[in-house]
Amino acid sequence: MNYFKPLSGVIDGLAVGKVQQLIEHSNQILITAHLSPDGDALGASLGLYHYLKHKGKTVKLMVPNSFPYFLKWMAGAGEILVYEYNPQAAQVIFNHSDLIFSVDYNIPKRVGKMAPLLEQSTAQKVLIDHHLFPGKIYDVVISHPEISSTSELVFRMLYQMGAYDAIDKTMAECLYCGMMTDTGGFTFNSNNPEIYLIISLLLRKGIDKDRIYSLVYNNLSQDRFRLLGFTLSQRMKIYPELHTALIWLSLEDQKQFSYNKGDTEGFVNYPLSIKDIIFSVFIREDEDLVKISFRSQGTFPTNEFAAQFFHGGGHLNASGGEFHGTLEDAVLLFENSIGLYAEKLRNTPK
Ligand code: 5GP
Ligand code: MN
Repeated sequence: MNYFKPLSGVIDGLAVGKVQQLIEHSNQILITAHLSPDGDALGASLGLYHYLKHKGKTVKLMVPNSFPYFLKWMAGAGEILVYEYNPQAAQVIFNHSDLIFSVDYNIPKRVGKMAPLLEQSTAQKVLIDHHLFPGKIYDVVISHPEISSTSELVFRMLYQMGAYDAIDKTMAECLYCGMMTDTGGFTFNSNNPEIYLIISLLLRKGIDKDRIYSLVYNNLSQDRFRLLGFTLSQRMKIYPELHTALIWLSLEDQKQFSYNKGDTEGFVNYPLSIKDIIFSVFIREDEDLVKISFRSQGTFPTNEFAAQFFHGGGHLNASGGEFHGTLEDAVLLFENSIGLYAEKLRNTPK
């Protein structure tokens, strides 16, 4: 039996062709990614950014706010424009762009204060994303919630364009980083065999995947590592009947450990290491709101939960939301909400 199968054409060929044409005919391209950009948002947009530059295009990459230090090693990270640092300059860039990519988010709301600029722009707009419910403002929609990362989608789009040869080591590193971070280092959402075919195609570009893992995951400051220990030992509550774990941090807690943006990235995953826990929730007090992250194992729909109670959304096993009020009230709302999901929580196998 021959097990080798070439990569299948997941993305609609017409959409790929349309994007190719739009790229050819554009003079100024703008790539945008979502608020608090994560490894996938940055990996996918930087991969695309390097590709477009390689093609000789004038291209800019803009995100609404800053991103954590353990993603700054990616080539081109220093060229990323951060909207909130200079909104006036951002406005000028939007006005001059004739093609805009929305990468790793589905609707304008996910770029925060950048949203009106995106909505009002007369540029052609292309969505490349893997969240449910793509927005209506796009000229081309490449939306595949069944694909585990947008970085994988960008790779597939380039591959389907026949541009595999144009992918260099730099692009491959960015795309690999996004695939790795959105699957927790290939520990969830990662059973599609084609992911590993793509990894092998990226390895052929000379990437060092073990080094990329270390740059992202074995790169914690001492304060950040101690904050993790504190959170798990002092700020965790288990609801054994509901197979649920909650961790939380106040601003005061964060101050004690000289908190920097991104320091709690990944914390929400740890309680899933506990036997029988299938739902893990992290409630973090921020300056202007309370941010909530959800993770689950199996079929428990965290995105439904996030949407119903915390104005959020995301993927089945990984989603987020927000709460406008005190940390204590967010915890109370959470505790009442899991009661309403008790049946599902009790009956979801790990
Ligand atoms: P994280 O917990 O890492 O911040 O977010 C996990 C995933 O949940 C993100 O990749 C994104 O898909 C989604 N997400 C996080 N926060 C929000 C939010 O406030 N609204 C929506 N719609 N999705 C979110
Ligand atoms: Mn993603």
